[in-house]
Amino acid sequence: MSQADTTAPAALPLEIVPIGGVGEFGMNMMLVAAGDDALLIDAGVMFPEPELPGVDLVIPDLSVLDEWRGRIRALVLTHGHEDHIGAVAHVLPRVDGPVYGSPFTLALVSSRLEEHGIDVRDRLVEARPRDTITIGPMRVEFLRVTHSIPDCFALAIHTPAGIVIHTGDFKIDQTPLDGEATDLHRLAELGAGGVIALFSDSSNVDRLGFAGSERDVTEGFEEIFSSTAGKLVVTCFATSIYRMQVLIDLAAQFDRRVAIVGRGAVRTSEIAMRLGRLRIPSHLQIRDSDVRDFPAQDVLCICTGSQGEPMAALSRIAIDDHRHVKLTDGDVVVFSARAIPGNEKGIARVMNHAARRGAAVIADGEKHVHVSGHAGAEELKLMLALVRPKHFVPIHGEYRQLARHARIARHVSASVDVLVAEDGDVLRFDEDGARVHRKLASGRTFIDGTRTGEVGDEVLRDRRHLAGDGLVVPVLAVNSQTGVLEQTPDVITRGFVVDAKTEALLKDVPTALAGMLEQLPREERTDPGLMKERVRAELQRLFRKRSGRRPLVLPVIMEV
Ligand SMILES: [Zn+2]
Ligand SMILES: [Zn+2]
Repeated sequence: MSQADTTAPAALPLEIVPIGGVGEFGMNMMLVAAGDDALLIDAGVMFPEPELPGVDLVIPDLSVLDEWRGRIRALVLTHGHEDHIGAVAHVLPRVDGPVYGSPFTLALVSSRLEEHGIDVRDRLVEARPRDTITIGPMRVEFLRVTHSIPDCFALAIHTPAGIVIHTGDFKIDQTPLDGEATDLHRLAELGAGGVIALFSDSSNVDRLGFAGSERDVTEGFEEIFSSTAGKLVVTCFATSIYRMQVLIDLAAQFDRRVAIVGRGAVRTSEIAMRLGRLRIPSHLQIRDSDVRDFPAQDVLCICTGSQGEPMAALSRIAIDDHRHVKLTDGDVVVFSARAIPGNEKGIARVMNHAARRGAAVIADGEKHVHVSGHAGAEELKLMLALVRPKHFVPIHGEYRQLARHARIARHVSASVDVLVAEDGDVLRFDEDGARVHRKLASGRTFIDGTRTGEVGDEVLRDRRHLAGDGLVVPVLAVNSQTGVLEQTPDVITRGFVVDAKTEALLKDVPTALAGMLEQLPREERTDPGLMKERVRAELQRLFRKRSGRRPLVLPVIMEV
């Protein structure tokens, strides 16, 4: 970058492209390009709808980045939620430069990548609040914001065309548990100096008022702690470190030992402890295998499974299939998370299972046991008032949220120019103002089996499975009350090579499935989510063992 260019900003049009997360929840990603240099903000995933069988993750179609091939100088991460970092492994091959983020964010990223056998530690560069990095003609300044996970940033991107602020996910928690408040001073200062564009989180624009502080759940939980005679089992997101801290502090106060149960929660809590973001007195913590050695009233379990995920710790516990943790009369199960739309049925199933074990089930609404991490309408107005942008672009939300956020912005300032963009829109900022300059084809990529597969190849591997070994769809009609098969399962195949060996195998599938079903307790047989996982695992094992083939297995469970 030559010095002379800074005197002629018009020569460097600024282009900003939402790649994902604008018009939908999840898979947040945005490209910022000034002249020949570009950077990416976040690389997130979206969790698939339950109706997408066999799909574990959804990420943006990255081919839109082709145009900037070789010019993406950095990936800048706002915070460590999966909808912001879950696709880092997929995006990294397209980035010619470092990955910047807070220490906690980067620790989550590298532990995730390690699971996939990818070591990128030499590409990770830690950033602290108010740090500034230079990327081509741009300078990126990291600003502390509060959210539901520690160490979150908003970004102030100083470009030749002016300053752009990207809030990341945020709320304005004025009494943060770790004392690390949103950097309102710097936001106001930047606003006073002139900001050309604000990109702001719209997730909770529908909520009136303020989201509230992470501290606000303390009272609700205090009541639960003092009234629970048995074991206390609380489920929250694996990344809800603040929630864990509130629970651990109460456990200390009420003399309960703490067991963290479930791989995701164990992983994030260990990282948080290592970085000093979570404090558990050492005498307080026990392993899940120790739970049974303590009287029920002396135990708190913090576990995964708040979304009713069939393989998560709470689901196993609720159907009495967990090796160490059992539920019984007098125990209390608390759902300390919101239900992500689409998961309501699965969550209700887990609640029913837990209730059958004799446990009392408490969800948000009955007691104040959850607080959102996203700004409500008043906080969004405050952000707009502090930053006073010339142009405003709502992000992180479905179209109706973006539209509402746009209306709010016009109420805050009649003069602000609002652009409601969608994924793939190229927003151009130059001497003529700001507008959607052109549209790129945006799309989604579905990914199967990231938990077991090598990253980068999943899609290829799926295609290979499909091309080489085909697709097998077992169709089971199950009585919704008894879980008994109503008829012999059908097996539909596509592209599955039928020779003498596999023909015999296919003939055996209905019997094998019926046999497996018989072994399952009724509770599992009447839970379609659990059944799907069981059937998938069983058939994958059967095909691999007897034919050496690995077809894609997509079970269909019909409740009749
Ligand atoms: Zn977030
Ligand atoms: Zn998010």
